[in-house]
Amino acid sequence: TLEQTLIHLHPDVRDFLKRDQQIFIGGAFTPTPNADRIDVFDPSSGLAITTIPACGNAEINEAVAAARSALTGEWSRLRPADRERAIQKLADLLERDGEVFAQLESLNNGKNIGLSRAIEVGASVDYLRYMAGWATKIEGHTLDSSIQAPPEGSRYMTYTLREPVGVVGAIIPWNFPLSMLVWKVGTALAAGCTIVVKPSEETPLTALRFAHLCHEAGLPAGVVNIVTGYGHSAGAALATHPAIDKLAFTGSTEVGKIIGHNAVDGMKRFTLELGGKSPMLLFADMQDNQDQLLARLGLFFNQGQVCTAATRVLIERSIYEQTVEKLAKVADSLAFGPGLDPTAEMNPVVSARQRDRVKGFIERAEAAGACLSSGHRAVPERGYFVAPTLVSNVTPDMEIVREEVFGPVIAAMPFEDEEHALHLANNTSYGLAASIWSTDLNRAMRLTRALKAGTVWVNTHNVLDANLPFGGMKQSGLGREHGREGLEHYLETKTVTIRYQ
Ligand code: NAD
Repeated sequence: TLEQTLIHLHPDVRDFLKRDQQIFIGGAFTPTPNADRIDVFDPSSGLAITTIPACGNAEINEAVAAARSALTGEWSRLRPADRERAIQKLADLLERDGEVFAQLESLNNGKNIGLSRAIEVGASVDYLRYMAGWATKIEGHTLDSSIQAPPEGSRYMTYTLREPVGVVGAIIPWNFPLSMLVWKVGTALAAGCTIVVKPSEETPLTALRFAHLCHEAGLPAGVVNIVTGYGHSAGAALATHPAIDKLAFTGSTEVGKIIGHNAVDGMKRFTLELGGKSPMLLFADMQDNQDQLLARLGLFFNQGQVCTAATRVLIERSIYEQTVEKLAKVADSLAFGPGLDPTAEMNPVVSARQRDRVKGFIERAEAAGACLSSGHRAVPERGYFVAPTLVSNVTPDMEIVREEVFGPVIAAMPFEDEEHALHLANNTSYGLAASIWSTDLNRAMRLTRALKAGTVWVNTHNVLDANLPFGGMKQSGLGREHGREGLEHYLETKTVTIRYQ
């Protein structure tokens, strides 16, 4: 039963789950008596753990109005140093309550508790602290100009001001719920924007818990607003709202394109972090004994529910058979279990829907003639588990090689030489990430240039940092998050020209 799971959890997690979950608008938790409720599940047992409001136009309107009015209120008059301090305060509170957030995330998303502690909480605290620093370092330029205009003898002082883009609408997915929230909120606050966030309807709990931190940190009312609901209602209402200035979306390429079209219609600024089909290039001269690292970091990390997951493993012919065998062995050795069990290495995927979707990909690959080198194991009966599956004997046109699965399913293909590897790697509509595994520095340098991907790793995979621009080429998105470049998307440039004699 749910009680048996909850009894082991932090008392604050239990208290939080007992509450009536309310959205956060204008600095207050807001009841929504007329809204339907959405069940929220524990994917390792399939049990419902709480419910959240299914909001729509009315609540989104209210939240956007609160964010609009906060934009020109007390928040806009804070000194940059005070804005920095406010973001640092959020980081302090998140660090203080880190264990509560980690447990809540592992319970709701199913991911490993170690990963929740290190990435969802640890890296999010780092991200907030990093972005806090930018609040005091936003700068324009003084520019020389060649303006020729009457009256004769006029001279000009010209410079640029950087201003917050305005009210941000953020729509985020379920695979890294807290991280994605913090990437948007931290950057918006550093730039002086206000924000309305719609978390995924599958994993809304850490976002709602984060609202308590915004409250406690004393952020002015309306600076951060969190509204739950489905994509087609709350999400669509936010994405098309005329009073939103910028949309920050992370999710599927399909929905991203709709968001982009709508944004252009309203001439809103937008950034899209979308899907991927990232290649991992394994050369015969790579360091020995890397199979554990490859499998755990690149292939099956977060059950493969990572937009940068290495879902196409390209292996030099001379080591192909043995590498497939070794990776399949690691895949078949990963112990199943709930995210809250620290010894479990393969946790459930996020939902029954996602499990069925992933299984559909595996079945269709097999029907198309692919071979399953791993993944024949029985999975636990309860919960939404999928066995980590290495698919071999594939051809470049197969669905399993072309489409994003977003689960623990990897397609392995042999290549003949560097040129062939590069051709296979770039033969995709996506361009989010890639990794090269080789001890030949010259080869690595050539390939980092030639690969069409927003991030290229050498001898590692899936490592990010707040300072490193992150985002995709081609169908993987538009714009970058993280670093100075990420901040730029939350700022507008105003050019000032002053005539003097
Ligand atoms: P999704 O696109 O269905 O949903 C993402 C978010 O958009 C959710 O909050 C959802 O409610 C909302 N949404 C859905 N339809 C909408 C609409 N019509 N209008 C407005 N909002 C809408 O994706 P998902 O299933 O939640 O997440 C998995 C996908 O996200 C994968 O394809 C993955 O590649 C991608 N992803 C990309 C990144 C990245 O950084 N590039 C990160 C995480 C996930």
